[in-house]
Parts: sequence; C-alpha cells; structure tokens
Amino acid sequence: MTSSEIRDNFLTFFKGKSHTIVPSAPMVIKDDPTLMFTNAGMNQFKEYFLGNSVSKYPRVADTQKCLRVSGKHNDLEEVGKDTYHHTMFEMLGNWSFGDYFKEEAIQWAWELLTKVYKIDKESLYVSVFEGSKDEDNLQMDKEALELWKAIVPEERIIYGNKADNFWEMGDQGPCGPCSEIHVDMRSKEEKAKIPGAQLVNKDHPEVIEIWNLVFMQYNRKADGSLESLPEKHVDTGMGFERLCMVLQGVHSSYDSDIFTPLVRELEVLTGKSYGKDKETDIAIRVVADHIRAVAFSIADGQLPSNNGAGYVIRRILRRAVRYGFTFLGTSEPFIYKLVKVLVTTMGEAFPELKKQIVLIENVVKEEEHSFLKTLEQGLILLDEIISKTKGKTVDGEKAFELYDTFGFPIDLTSLILSEKGLALDEAGFNKAMTRQKERSRSASEVSKDDWNIVSEKGDQEFLGYDQLQAEVRLVKYRKVISKKEGAQFQLVFDKTPFYPEGGGQVGDKGYLEVPNGDVVYILDTKRENNEIVHFAKNLPKHLEQTLTAVVDRGKRASTERNHSATHLLHQGLRLILGTHVEQKGSAVHSGHLRFDFSHFSKMTEEEIQRVEDFVNQRIREKLPLQEERNIPMEKALKEGAIALFGEKYGEQVRTVRFGDSIELCGGTHVSNTADIWHFKIVSEGAIAAGVRRIEAITSDAVRDFYEDKNQQLDEIKSHLKSSGDPVKAVEHLLEENNAMKREIESLLKDKARSLKIQFKGELESIDDFYFLAKEVDLDAGAMKDLAFEMGQEEDKLFLLFASSKGGKALLSCYISKELVASKGWNAGQIVKELGKYIQGGGGGQPFFATAGGKNPAGIQKALKQVRSLIS
Ligand code: ATP
Ligand code: MG
Repeated sequence: MTSSEIRDNFLTFFKGKSHTIVPSAPMVIKDDPTLMFTNAGMNQFKEYFLGNSVSKYPRVADTQKCLRVSGKHNDLEEVGKDTYHHTMFEMLGNWSFGDYFKEEAIQWAWELLTKVYKIDKESLYVSVFEGSKDEDNLQMDKEALELWKAIVPEERIIYGNKADNFWEMGDQGPCGPCSEIHVDMRSKEEKAKIPGAQLVNKDHPEVIEIWNLVFMQYNRKADGSLESLPEKHVDTGMGFERLCMVLQGVHSSYDSDIFTPLVRELEVLTGKSYGKDKETDIAIRVVADHIRAVAFSIADGQLPSNNGAGYVIRRILRRAVRYGFTFLGTSEPFIYKLVKVLVTTMGEAFPELKKQIVLIENVVKEEEHSFLKTLEQGLILLDEIISKTKGKTVDGEKAFELYDTFGFPIDLTSLILSEKGLALDEAGFNKAMTRQKERSRSASEVSKDDWNIVSEKGDQEFLGYDQLQAEVRLVKYRKVISKKEGAQFQLVFDKTPFYPEGGGQVGDKGYLEVPNGDVVYILDTKRENNEIVHFAKNLPKHLEQTLTAVVDRGKRASTERNHSATHLLHQGLRLILGTHVEQKGSAVHSGHLRFDFSHFSKMTEEEIQRVEDFVNQRIREKLPLQEERNIPMEKALKEGAIALFGEKYGEQVRTVRFGDSIELCGGTHVSNTADIWHFKIVSEGAIAAGVRRIEAITSDAVRDFYEDKNQQLDEIKSHLKSSGDPVKAVEHLLEENNAMKREIESLLKDKARSLKIQFKGELESIDDFYFLAKEVDLDAGAMKDLAFEMGQEEDKLFLLFASSKGGKALLSCYISKELVASKGWNAGQIVKELGKYIQGGGGGQPFFATAGGKNPAGIQKALKQVRSLIS
C-alpha cells in the first residue's frame, strides 16, 4: 500500500462510521498564546473539549500536520538518532465530541488495523491505564480493560503507568486515561527469544507505539487537581509515518515511500550512501526529516527568524546544516535542493507546498548560507579560544559565549575539541546555560488561576463590527500574573464590542463603566480557545451587575484606517508587482501598518510611488465597505476572495470588499475608503530571502509625518540663514565646500613639495645609502605619499617617519627595493620591533610598513633605536 492509499483508507474508513472529514489545521499556530505549534490532532478541537463551544459535527476524522519541537512534547533531540520519531509528522485521528466513547473507539481501531490494513493480530499489543497512587489517586481503567479482553488475549494487554497511559496536552486542560496500540515488528526468531510484552514502551526500535486512544474525561485545573468534564470525548492519534512503515514492511519510517525519495536525493547530493555508517545515517535522517518541518512551516507563513516560532524553525534548520557540515561534508547550501523532491512526493496532498516552492527554496538557501558563514567564523573564534587555553580543558563560559551570542553549536565545539585532544569544561558550560535559562524563564513566566464562574455563558457574540459600546454581563474571570505585566485579570463577557487581537490587527482597548460610576480600564483584548478575553488591572466591584463596555473610539478608528489601507496595499502590490505577491504577515496598529509579502527584488522608487498612487486613488474614489458575514467558504473563493496560507478558516467566513479588493478577513474596517484620507509608504526592505516588508501610515500619521519634514526644513533654513530657496542655498554651500576642498588639497601638495625639498637637504649619507629618521606633522596617508615621492628621486633610501596625532603614535618605514635586496632589510620586521617603544605593533611589506601605538612619548626612542637595527 502506498502512503497516499494508507491515508485515504483511514479517512474512508471513518467516513463509513459517520465521521465528517475536516482539513488539517495549520501547523504553526498564530492566535493562541499557550501553544506555538500544533503538537497533536486534538489542538484544533481544544475548545470543544473545554466546553467553550459546541462542535457542529459530533464525529470528526482528519490527518493533522504536527510539530513536536518545543514545550511539553519535544522530540527534537531524538530525531535522526532513532528511526521513528520525527519533528514534523502527520497524525491520523478520529474524534467523538460527547458522542461515542470507549467501546466504539476500541472496536473501530481494532477493525481498521486488522481488517482494513490487515496487520497480523499476533504482532499487536495494547495497553490500559493501571491507575495511580499519587495525589490524583486514579482508578484503573477497567472499562477499557474489559473491552480489550473481548478482543485481545490477556497476555498481549499491558498495564501502563501514568507517564505512558494518562494523556495530558499541557499543565492545564483536558486529559484522561488512554489505551495505546503497539506493534512488534521483530523477526520470528527474535520474538521467540523475548516476548513482545516485555518490550512495549522500552524504546525498542522494532516494538513501537502507533496509535493512542485517549478517553477525555477530566480537566486539569491550575492548582493541579482534576475535575470531571461535563461530557466525555474520544481523541485518537495515529502516527502516519509509523503506520506506513508497518504496512510497507520496513523497519524504519525513513525506508517508507514517504522518505526514500529524500534519502536517495541526499545520497546524490552528498555522495554518501545511506545504510553503511551509523553517523552518516543519522545525519541523512536528520536532514531528510528537518527539511519537511522547515518547508511546511514556511508554507504555513512562518519564516525563520530571531524570536518565537520563527526561532524554533531557524534552530531546526540549523541542526540540519550542522549535521550536514559535520557528518556529510557539506560546506555549501544543499538542503534547499530537497524542496523539489519534497514537492513531488507531498505537493499533491499539500498544495500550499507546491504553490510556494520558489519562496521555500530561496528562504532555505539563504538561511543555510548565512549559518554556514556563522560556522566558518565560529571555527576561527574557537581556534582563538583554543590558542589561549592553557592545559587540556577549554573554559565552559567561553564556549557558552560562542554558543549564545554567536549561535555556534555546542556539540560541534565538543567534537572539534575532542579531535584536538582537548576537553570542554561541561560543568562551566551547563552553569552558564542554566543561568541564562533562568533569566529568560522568569521573564516569560505566567501563572494563571482557574476561572471563577460568575454567570451562565451565552454564545459570546462579537458586536464590534456594528457597535463600540454595549451593555454586558461578566461570565467568568481569573487572575494571571506575569513578570512583564504584573498581576492582571482576564474577563470574559456574555457579549462584547471589543475586537480581540487577530488577523494582524491589534486588540481593542477601552473601559467598563460600572453603575456606581467606577471605571475599569481594558488594556488589551485577545482570543484564547475561541473565547474573547479582556485584560484589566482590576475587577469591577459588583461582579453580577450589568456593565457598559466602551471601546476606545480614537484608537479603533485609526486602526481601522490602517487595516483597510492594508487591503488596498495588498491589491496594489499584486497589480503592480504581479500575482506572485503573497501576504506573509501583517501588523495593523493604530499608529502604523506593516505588511510582509513575497517578492524577489527590492522595489524601485517608481514601483513604490505607483503603489502609493494606486492606494490613494482608491481612497479618492470613496469606495464603500461591502461586507458579507457568515457566507460559505466556497462562495467567498468563487467571488475572488484571497485566502492566506497557514490561516485557519471555518466553513463560514466573512469577506471584506472595497471596489475590486476582496479579502477573507475578520478585522474591522472603515465604512468608506475616503476615511483613510491619505496613504504613505515610509519604508520598504527585505526581512528574509524573497520576503519584503513595507511600513506605511495613513491619515493623521501622514499629516504628522509631513509636519515633521516641514519642521526639519525650517531648521535647515534657519541654519542656512537664507530666506530664499533652501535647495539653491544647499547647492551653493556644496559648491563652496568643494572649492574649499580643492584649495586645501593644493595647499597640502605645496606643503609636501616644500617638505620634500627640506628633507632631501637633511638626508644623512651612511656608507652607500641615504638615511633619515624624523618626527613629522603629517597623517598616515601624507607620510606614505611623501616617502614614495622621495623614493622616486632617490633609489638608495631608508626613511622612518613618526608622528603623533590624537594621543596615538604612528611609524612609517620606507626602504628602497634595492636596499631590501642588497641588505636584506625588512620594513615590516623593523616596525614590528620599533612598535614596542610606542606600545603597539604593525607590519606590512619589506619595502613599506607602518605601526601604530598608544604611547607617543616613545617616538624619540624609536627614532634613535632604528639606527642600531640597521647597523
Ligand atoms: P512516543 O512515546 O513514541 O514518543 P507519544 O506517546 O509521544 O509516542 P502520542 O502523544 O500518544 O505519542 O501521539 C500519538 C501518536 O503519534 C503516537 O502513537 C505515534 O504513532 C505518533 N507520534 C508521536 N510522536 C511522534 C513523532 N515524534 N514522530 C512521529 N510520530 C509520532
Ligand atoms: Mg513522545
């Protein structure tokens, strides 16, 4: 069975069991402060498990792109070393939201594996939660046990502990006992030696977990205690790559048809063979795995960068570069060349990859290139550290510095040191690392209390498209404490006019009016688990009262002007630069807007002007906002709305149209483009290979911008002390300046000519050559010119000039080529030797060299000592 058949069969099977097939959510999560990347199929359904909203479909199945490289589920360091953990993988899953429970979940899993996929029953083991004796004091999952006993002989049922058989997404949230299904892929002989049951969950490469059936029945609260969920759910996850390995009869997922094309291409690119050498194999697996994670992230709109999710992606790619550099002998970018192969194997199922192939290649290549440069420079720095090391151990602090400020990988440092017979002071390194981690952890740590429920929740309608003020009721609140913001309260209302940060647009600010006249300020608004959460410094006094929620109109209005301008800008760019322009990110604030987009060269002045003109023209046309809420996605796309890669859209969407600009957008907008007043691009530049960023302003900010310019001009005028045309005045100043420069040059030439005549008269004849050692009042360039000019007129000349300028000493030594040859003198060595008198050093060529130092008082000594050096 090919991998695509395997994927199809899974979905078809569950469709047959009345499941609705839904698309994978993006792998990079944008609007959830609690999670950077999707790490399990259940992430996108979290709100249903928590009861924040109700799923339209009680049964759902899908394949979900997952990435396990940070937070609670982090497999990064295992990847490549074993043959079945990946950074990015697909998780096949079926879900029940308050519908079926353990019985169906268990029976269907068994049916699919043994009847559809025809896996040998004898090779399957299942596990059941054994209960826990800790503070949770949980019962054994007898229900699951009885169900399994009806299908599987008891010797293939394993009792698992909490670590293996109680699934939790994070420190808080929905959780429950689980039953895992493991496959024993060993040969008959091996199986006869040790029963498979003894190898389950023991990190054996051929006895591995493929499917986890989680029975969600609890919610883990902030204080660590468990409460029962009002409804019970099923959440299953099966590793697609592992399933393919089992069904294709290979013993490593890298030998399945998902990975072999990448592995073969890597063999071609590096000239190495897979399967001959342990370290080479690990490196090939690392690169084959990592390119998938990186390419899919870029396709989802997450570029490598210096912070947050972008930094995680950068680190994954760097790990691949480093393995290539160290074990595959690659010192030029090569990983980007795998993108084509990846698109051939996965582009069908994931069209976002195919569509963005050029961008992905460019970004990966540029990242590889710059990290290889870092490696090169790091090697030089490491050499320096080594040369200063006394003894056999290299300072851990120094190695940490190299790692921390420079991004030079620590395992590469260790490897190089061990090759040179040196050791790394690991304790010192770890200490420095721990210190730094504590610093950054305490800066980002957030503690959240449980929610306090105040009243029944409604649908939590968002009113903010139509009104900026509303009577609301508090549904729940909790206290959160972070180092950055201090203590704050999060408030959830039954409905709200406040826009929660999202789609690039900042969250609304404003206030709550309490009936007794008190005011509570709302500092920010965000969306968490599909609820609109308001942030406030304090709580309203009487929680049950009706409150008036008022959005800050001024800020909201400026933000809307910028948001609508962003749409027009997007349209203008696609029209003027071409439809290869894809939005790669945006940030819409009240003061300015930022728009990132794919485009492969710097925009010319003219292009920028045309885009600006285009937007301002649309503003002048007074285009009204035409908005459609809750229309089917298909209809929106048919109308020409642009959907962004990596964005999560529901089945019902909202479209925002101004004239021919039509976008899927949840943000808030001006009611007419005339409200934007004016649009101005203030900067355009690159943020990554093939990705550009425009920053722009509208309305009042444009007026402020021009006012600032005006003020600058006034200041210039007042400096010029001319009431006429400032441009003419500046031109006149430049002319004057140039004339003065020319005059100074000619004066300096005169000075040099007269010095030359003077110095010629001072030459001392020693044996068969002329000698002069003298302090002069010239800078380095003039000293050099003078020496070479004198050399043109005299071919047996030894000159040493010294000068002190700005507290620094300078020596220049000139020796005619003839003397260099006949006497074996070397100006470079001479200045090096004399450098010690001026507390400095230098060098150069045998016929001319210079030295600089910080002790002008030593100049006379140097001038005296030079005689003994050449005598
Ligand atoms: P393991 O113990 O092997 O790391 P897990 O307990 O972390 O697995 P779950 O969180 O239960 O796995 O995820 C469900 C399924 O997803 C697993 O049964 C496995 O098939 C697959 N899976 C988990 N992690 C990875 C990974 N890093 N690469 C590929 N597949 C994975
Ligand atoms: Mg795991």
